[in-house]
Amino acid sequence: MPQRTDLFELGRLGLTSGEGRRLDLFVHLEPFEYGGSVYAVTPELVPVRLDVSRTTAQGWALRLRFSATLEGPCMRCLDPAAPEFEVDAYEVHQPGGGEELTSPYMEDELDVEAWARDALALALPAQLTCRPDSAGLCPQCGANLNEDPGHTHDSAPDARWAKLSELKFE
Ligand SMILES: [Zn+2]
Ligand SMILES: [Zn+2]
Repeated sequence: MPQRTDLFELGRLGLTSGEGRRLDLFVHLEPFEYGGSVYAVTPELVPVRLDVSRTTAQGWALRLRFSATLEGPCMRCLDPAAPEFEVDAYEVHQPGGGEELTSPYMEDELDVEAWARDALALALPAQLTCRPDSAGLCPQCGANLNEDPGHTHDSAPDARWAKLSELKFE
């Protein structure tokens, strides 16, 4: 079982100006609540790649990359959905560099978990679906249109139109 990292103390890497290090860590991400449903993040321990560079003037340049899957109901057809998302995020932290160069995830340690969670949230689309072209449910009867693409109803206007046509040709 890999070891879970929530916070990581960058200082312990002992990097000097211009040096860098690549780290492979594992974070646990809490489920997302989305459109009234709960979506678990899998795997349980998400492998993340963290690139750390020590900049001049005691700053840090950081890059975080990972892919994670959200599991929950499709927002269109309610079937199980497990869309996967790629995350590639950057942070710069420069002590004394002003608000723009201050990372919200850097205190004494880097909050890898909070950063990963926010970065994944930014990567999510407006709708979580079983597949990009999920056809959803029939608004009249609730049938799953993915399973029944030719699904139709004899709607009232059509029936009236048919009657009208008959009258014309009589
Ligand atoms: Zn669907
Ligand atoms: Zn229907």
